[in-house]
Amino acid sequence: MVYMNLVALAPLLFSVEAFVLPDMFQQEFATPELQQFFEGKDELTREVLKDSSAVNYWKPHVPYFLKPLVETEKLQKKIQLDDLNATAQDLYDLAKKSHKKYGHPTRVIGSPGHWATIDYILEALDGMSDYYNYTLQEFDALSGKINSFNLTDAKTGVSFPNSTAFSLSPSVKPFTGELIEIPNLGCNEADYKSLEIFNKDQSEDNSVKKIALIERGKCPFGIKSDLAGKHGFHAAVIYDNEPENGGEGLHGTLGEPRNHTISTIGVSYDVGVLLVTNIEVSKHYFVKFEMDSTVSKIKTKNVIADTKHGDPENIVALGAHSDSVEEGPGINDDGSGTISLLTVAKQLTHFKINNKVRFAWWSAEEEGLLGSNYYAYNLTKEENHKIRVFMDYDMMASPNYEYEIYDANNKDHPNGSEELKKLYIDFYKHHKLNYTLIPFDGRSDYVGFIENGIPAGGIAAGAEKDNVWNGKVLDKCYHQLCDDVSNLAWDAFLINTKLIAHSVATYANSFEGFPLRDVNATADITTTSTNDVYNEVPVPQFKYAADYLVY
Ligand SMILES: [Zn+2]
Repeated sequence: MVYMNLVALAPLLFSVEAFVLPDMFQQEFATPELQQFFEGKDELTREVLKDSSAVNYWKPHVPYFLKPLVETEKLQKKIQLDDLNATAQDLYDLAKKSHKKYGHPTRVIGSPGHWATIDYILEALDGMSDYYNYTLQEFDALSGKINSFNLTDAKTGVSFPNSTAFSLSPSVKPFTGELIEIPNLGCNEADYKSLEIFNKDQSEDNSVKKIALIERGKCPFGIKSDLAGKHGFHAAVIYDNEPENGGEGLHGTLGEPRNHTISTIGVSYDVGVLLVTNIEVSKHYFVKFEMDSTVSKIKTKNVIADTKHGDPENIVALGAHSDSVEEGPGINDDGSGTISLLTVAKQLTHFKINNKVRFAWWSAEEEGLLGSNYYAYNLTKEENHKIRVFMDYDMMASPNYEYEIYDANNKDHPNGSEELKKLYIDFYKHHKLNYTLIPFDGRSDYVGFIENGIPAGGIAAGAEKDNVWNGKVLDKCYHQLCDDVSNLAWDAFLINTKLIAHSVATYANSFEGFPLRDVNATADITTTSTNDVYNEVPVPQFKYAADYLVY
C-alpha cells in the first residue's frame, strides 16, 4: 500500500527548495513526532532546516552517569525527519564543491566534494566529543578510468555489441591479434600450458599478437587476466557463460593489479558464442583490440568513531560509505546511509550504553569495497574478536524503494548473521511493512567482515533492479547525476533510520541471545593473493565487489 502511494507522490517530492510533504504522506506516517514536524512547516525553506541540521545541533551538557540506559523505543523516537532532510541538503552542497574539477556535483574519492564530506562528518563528531573518540584510517585506493575501448572483428570492422571494459583494466595501444580460445575456465596454469603457442619461443615471435578468449566462471576475472598475461597474451576477452543473460554486457572488475594483469574486455554470452564459433570455422581468427585507460592510486580515509563508554570487549559496529561514484552527488547512494549514521550517532548521545558502539564511514566503496576491506583485513586477531556484529547501511531511501534485507544465514556466514537478519525482519513485520530478502552477494561493505569471520548483514532500499511489488526500477537515478536530494523517499528514509536506531539500541543494550564469537573458527578468507602460482583457485564467496562482478 505504501508503495503505491509513494509512486503517486514521488513527483511532488522532486522540488528541493520547497520541501512540502503532501497530506497523503502525512496520513501514512502520522506518528506524533511527524505530526509535530508538519505543523506550521508547510513552506520550510532550506535555511530554516539548516538551523536544525545535525551539524548545527547543540544541546545542554548532561553528565554521562545521569543519562538513562538506551532503549530502542526511546532512541527511535528521537529520529527526526528534519534532521535527515537538512543533512541531505548539506551533502548536496558539499558535492557541488567538485563542480570546478568534474563539471558537476560529485563526492567521488579524491574529489573536493568527498574530502568535504569527510570534514563534515568530523565536524559533527567534534560536536559530540564528550561521547565519541574518532580515528581516521588512511589507505591507498585504486581508481580506474576508462577513456575509450574497442573490440572489433578485424575483417569486417564490426564491433561486438555490449562489450565492456573491465574496471581497473590497464591500457593497451590499438592492435590486431589472433583470438585464441583457452581450454577449461582459464583458472589454472595447466589451461595455458597445454596450448601449442607456448611451445614456441615468445621472445622471438612478436609478429602475431595473441588475445586470450576465456570463459567466465570459477575464479576471479583478475586471475584469468593475470594468467593470460603471464603466458604471453597481449590482451584478454572474457565471455559470459550464463545463457539466460543473452546479449547483456558483463560488468566486471579485475581488482587489484597483479604481476601480469593485461587489458581485458568483457563480452555477453551471445557474443561469446559467436567468437567461439568464429575461431572454430576460420582456423586463425583475428580481432582488433584497444583500450585507453588509467589506473591510479589515491590516498583516502575511513572515519571510525567509537563511543567512549560501553564494554570494549563487545562492540556493536555499523557502517555506511562516505563516497559516491564520479557520475553524481550520491545523495541516496550512500549519502542516505551516511546521514542515517550521523543522526543515530547524534541521538545515541542522550543515553547510557552497556556495549561499545562503533560507527564507520568507509571510503572507496564504489571502487570495490576498498575502505571496509582495508579495515576488516587489517584488524588484529584481538580487535577482530571484540566485534560482535557488523551492520551495513547502504542506500536507505531509494525513490521507488522496497524494504530489503540481506539474506544472510548462519550456515554460509559467521554465526550471528542470521540473528541480525531476524532483527530486521521482526522490525518490518512489527510495523506491518512488506520486506524483501535480497542476495547477500557482495554488493556492499559487509564482505570484509564476513570474510574475516565477523557476523554481518544489513538493509537497503534498492538500486538498479525493479521493485518486486510494482515492477518499476527501485532507484531511477542509481549512479547518475540525478541522485540528488530529490531522489530520496522520505518515508523510507525515516523508517530505515529508525530501524538503524533499533539495531544500535538493541545491541548497545545487550547481546543476550546473540551467538558469542567463535574465536577458534578459522576465518573463511577467499583468495586476494597477488602471487604467481595458481594451482587450485578457490571459488570466491561473493560474486560482486560493490557494483562489479568479481567472477
Ligand atoms: Zn552504495
